[in-house]
Amino acid sequence: MDFDQDARRLATDLRDADTAVVLTGAGLSAASGIPTFRGDDGIWGDDFEESDFHVSRFERDPAGFWDDRIALYDRMEPDGGAEPNAAHRALATLTNSGILDAVITQNTDGLHHAAGTDEVIELHGTNARVVCPRCGSTTDGEPIRERARAGELPPRCECGGPYKPDVVLFGELLPRDAHRRAKELTAASDVFLVAGSSLRVDPAASLPARRRGGTLAVINLERTRYADSADYTFRTDVTELLPELADRLSGER
Ligand code: NAD
Repeated sequence: MDFDQDARRLATDLRDADTAVVLTGAGLSAASGIPTFRGDDGIWGDDFEESDFHVSRFERDPAGFWDDRIALYDRMEPDGGAEPNAAHRALATLTNSGILDAVITQNTDGLHHAAGTDEVIELHGTNARVVCPRCGSTTDGEPIRERARAGELPPRCECGGPYKPDVVLFGELLPRDAHRRAKELTAASDVFLVAGSSLRVDPAASLPARRRGGTLAVINLERTRYADSADYTFRTDVTELLPELADRLSGER
């Protein structure tokens, strides 16, 4: 692969596309200090197991769930407040200038919003909020995490129900509106870019298969299941290639 030539071609495809979207994953936030789940240095199977964060665990044992959830959160954001990195900023530039129609993200860290991206579809929800499954009310996540850290396990809503992080747990469906919009944009896309996702978690990982033609480009340090079918695979750091694409393209529309 000629990296520079492929990057130039992808920039041209993006410029010429009527509809272009990016699907992002945990790799996008790695340079912000948030560890990924899979891939080199991923934290699954280390201290954490997927089954600890299954919705059935939350329903069966909300206190134990919250104990593990706080440990996971503090491992993911040890200093509390991660900042967007060059890749988030590049995608904000590409989206807000109209080159990309939306950022579809699996991340729950809120960093695309923090980078100022106008159109963000949060497929897996957000850590910024918690929701009460009993009465449906939502509130800010951090004060509730503080209550859990102080020993209130599980933290409870005024109605008495245990709060749940407003993220998609294993075993839960994706938020309906976000999933529908992501599927519509994917089907309409002339360019579908994947950045920093292992593409191992369905249904998000199946989105590329819903395209009706057009260009598929994958940026990941490791090989993904779309390596053979993608038009471009860049085994590179998202914080290098995305700013390069944004520099090339910003101001062209
Ligand atoms: P993942 O952890 O499964 O995979 C991350 C991928 O990013 C790996 O394939 C890795 O090779 C790649 N990567 C790491 N650093 C990179 C870099 N600098 N440049 C390019 N590629 C890089 O992440 P996923 O595919 O998003 O998995 C989905 C699940 O993980 C989602 O449910 C998501 O909510 C959750 N998750 C979110 C966060 C977050 O919000 N920041 C962090 C960890 C996991």
